[in-house]
Amino acid sequence: MKNDNLIEKIKEKIEFSIRLKLSVKYIKILVATLLAAAIGIVLVFGLINIKESLDANYRQITSILNQGQVLYPEQDKFPGLQDYAEQKQSPVLVFDRAGNLLWGNQPELAKYKPKSWLKFVRQNGKLFIVQNKKYPLANTSYELVIFTDIGPTIAATSKLAQIVVIVMALLLLPAIAAIIESGKGIFRPIKDMTKTVKHISEENLNLRLNVSGAQDELKELALTFNEMMNRIEDNYNRQKQFVSDASHELRTPITVIQGYADMLSRWGKDDPAILNEAISAIKNEAANMKELIDKLLFLARHDNRTFVFEMEEFSLTEMLLDIVKETQIIDSSHKISYDINQEISLFADRNRMKQAIRILMDNALKYTPPGGEINISLEKVSLEDNNYTAIKIKDTGIGMSEEELKHIFDRFYRADQSRAKEKGGHGLGLAIAKIIILGHQGKIKVRSKKGAGSEFTILLPEKV
Ligand code: ADP
Repeated sequence: MKNDNLIEKIKEKIEFSIRLKLSVKYIKILVATLLAAAIGIVLVFGLINIKESLDANYRQITSILNQGQVLYPEQDKFPGLQDYAEQKQSPVLVFDRAGNLLWGNQPELAKYKPKSWLKFVRQNGKLFIVQNKKYPLANTSYELVIFTDIGPTIAATSKLAQIVVIVMALLLLPAIAAIIESGKGIFRPIKDMTKTVKHISEENLNLRLNVSGAQDELKELALTFNEMMNRIEDNYNRQKQFVSDASHELRTPITVIQGYADMLSRWGKDDPAILNEAISAIKNEAANMKELIDKLLFLARHDNRTFVFEMEEFSLTEMLLDIVKETQIIDSSHKISYDINQEISLFADRNRMKQAIRILMDNALKYTPPGGEINISLEKVSLEDNNYTAIKIKDTGIGMSEEELKHIFDRFYRADQSRAKEKGGHGLGLAIAKIIILGHQGKIKVRSKKGAGSEFTILLPEKV
């Protein structure tokens, strides 16, 4: 059982170890290269040697023949060849042009005369290369059949082969060791990374890979992974914060409703004043809760990407004039003016666009003390990259500081907690308005100064 485990472990190591696979691959390449080099060296050496001995024999024989021609001008006598053949122990045959044997120290070997220029012959335990060479001499020409013993060359070549093999093996051992060793350094960062990644869980999303010692490509991988973890952690924290903020917001109306329900059950049933107060408070809080839940649903759908805009062509001018009229009816404590002088139509989600503009109008009303002025205007503007339809909502209210401006589009952010809460704000309005405007490829800009009012501008591109 234990053995089985061990074998399994080794198998797994072999199968999954890139380092091992790479080392084996490199070693194979190295061995193949060295082998090819060795074969090449031995072959070239052997062939050069054989050619050398063939040439040497031919040169020696033709020089003997040339000398004989000077000393014994009468043809077909080849003194000197006998000495050569005996000394070299290599047979020589001389044929005339018609192919008749003129001379040979071993005439019986005439049968080995090659038809073409070369032939291998095994004779008396020796391996010969037999050459058939034409040799012109004194108005005639001969066919020389020269036997060259290649035994010594083969012996020398095989000796060389042995030396080459030993040298290569000696070279190979440190090279293999170096390959195996080099893998260690390269893959250590991967091992460290795996270890760290294994430890990352919901509880410690802040763990990051160490990028200091890694190699270049691994460093990039580690950096990319860390960036991904930053995003995941950020998102996770935001989700957590969102759930906690949402629960917190829902607690207040529920507590109020619960309180009134208790009060009613104890004393309110028969007291019309308490009854009326409780009913109107419960209604209010229920409406407040419904509004909050609608906002949360919108954000959740946006985050899940299940939200779709229903696009249509409509008159923006008409819509803004409607909003002005509605606002004037429900709010008589502010002066509401407008500069809407041209007909502009829009291709957008009508209801969502109205919702976004309403959010800005409601904020202007909420954060402008009674008697203040709110102006809504519509115009075409041209910025560096496109032509835009600009909707401006300007108030003379409490304004915002630079620090507050940085956060007003964050979910659940309220610059002045108590004041906003008292006005029924959840800190979600601007976050939703921003999603709607950006969803229409638009921009939203704010200019504001503490105590000096605010101006929100929605820019919607003419060409998307
Ligand atoms: P809320 O529901 O609290 O109004 P919003 O997301 O609409 O939430 O706004 C976020 C915060 O931005 C508000 O709490 C308020 O402090 C500030 N704010 C928004 N509009 C204005 C404005 N016109 N004037 C001053 N402060 C504003």
